[in-house]
Amino acid sequence: MIADSKLVTDVIPSPNHSGKRIYPLTRISIHCVVGQCYASTLGELFADAGYEASSNYGVGFDGSIGQYLPESYRSWCTSSYDNDNRAITIEVASDTVEPYKVTKKAYDALIRLLVDICRRNGKKKLVWFGSKSAALSYAPKDDELVMTVHRWFANKACPGDYLYGLHPQIMAQVNRQLGGTFEAASTAGAKKTETAVLTFNFLARSGYNNVPAQVKMLQRLLRDIRYRGRDGKELTINSRFDANTDYAVRAFQKKNGLTVDGVVGPATWKKLTGAK
Ligand SMILES: [Zn+2]
Repeated sequence: MIADSKLVTDVIPSPNHSGKRIYPLTRISIHCVVGQCYASTLGELFADAGYEASSNYGVGFDGSIGQYLPESYRSWCTSSYDNDNRAITIEVASDTVEPYKVTKKAYDALIRLLVDICRRNGKKKLVWFGSKSAALSYAPKDDELVMTVHRWFANKACPGDYLYGLHPQIMAQVNRQLGGTFEAASTAGAKKTETAVLTFNFLARSGYNNVPAQVKMLQRLLRDIRYRGRDGKELTINSRFDANTDYAVRAFQKKNGLTVDGVVGPATWKKLTGAK
């Protein structure tokens, strides 16, 4: 087996699969391993036919990337015949306890891998709906990959609240690197009766509807592009729109020619998530 991605550090074929997928590739499913292991350790597990499980890729806590099945193969990963025939599956090393946190190295490797998968497969955009019905009823365009999660198909926490909560951010980061647009990714064609869960609220230090998870996402996005707080330090990811966050937002707005008001409205979100 030859690795599909140049990023792969460990190729360990697994016998646990159903051959080529019977549907076109339209989905991507990110899982948590429940163990801080190397990509090779996971590969050795999946190499055991008795284990009866596999994934296309695995990401180790150290950022190593394993490939266990070709991208064109249906893995045994998501407890769903339908999903695994449409999705490339990726297991990411995680803690063994809630919320199944992953290391920064693993997270960064995951983002690189996702961008690479999209580029090689002609996909320009990841699409995340925080709801199973919205995601599964959506008809993806040829250049889109819909993000799906194991917990929708089985009574499991997978991918854990940590990675699950990061799905909007993962989408935004990957799409920014692919040059995709914020609007299309956030509201992409959900049926009119369904609400795409990713609505970005107005956020500000004083007033507005500060959804903690969105403040958290804002802080991560600002931190990733190295905007510091008023105290001159790296932003603390605390989900609170505090003075340091306010300072970083205003600095970002100033740098990007936006109205410097400390309010994260559509224009600021758009810039932050990479829309042109
Ligand atoms: Zn899983």
